[in-house]
Amino acid sequence: MYSRQLLRTRFVWTGTTHFNRLHRVCRAERPLCTKSDEVRLAEEASRRYGPPAPTIFSKVIDKSIPADVIYEDEKCLAFRDISPQAPVHFLVIPRIPIPRISEVKDDDAELLGHLLVVAKNVAKQESLDEGYRVVINDGKHGAQSVYHLHIHVLGGRQMTWPPG
Ligand code: AMP
Repeated sequence: MYSRQLLRTRFVWTGTTHFNRLHRVCRAERPLCTKSDEVRLAEEASRRYGPPAPTIFSKVIDKSIPADVIYEDEKCLAFRDISPQAPVHFLVIPRIPIPRISEVKDDDAELLGHLLVVAKNVAKQESLDEGYRVVINDGKHGAQSVYHLHIHVLGGRQMTWPPG
């Protein structure tokens, strides 16, 4: 688990020049992710996925728009969906801008596993003790609207099946 100190860490992101070349001023004693880490992640993403198409989630990550962030670490963050479809509805996104699940690479396995573990931990933090639904929409038929990979976690009510 991350210490309360780390969870309280406040970040200021200053600018997105080319892609996610983020420069972060971190006010914590132990930054989760340094400026050089961010540059490395951005360069790695560019190599692996081609030129980025910035999305609204890039702005959530760089804090240039507000979001109700309920968890973050060096690889990902979780924040409440702006248009919740259940009493609890949050998204888990990687910092690295992978566009969609159908474009992940074989060696993204560790990151994807991390996102799922974070989804589980935050669901517990949100007291979703009766269960919840985990959803990843992909592309047109999956009704994906934001092309930055994200995991939906929905809970707090009885879900039905099949989904629409
Ligand atoms: P999807 O349709 O799977 O691409 O889901 C995108 C989700 O992002 C939707 O549930 C939106 O409500 C949500 N969303 C879009 N913009 C924001 C935002 N600025 N903050 C939080 N959630 C957002």
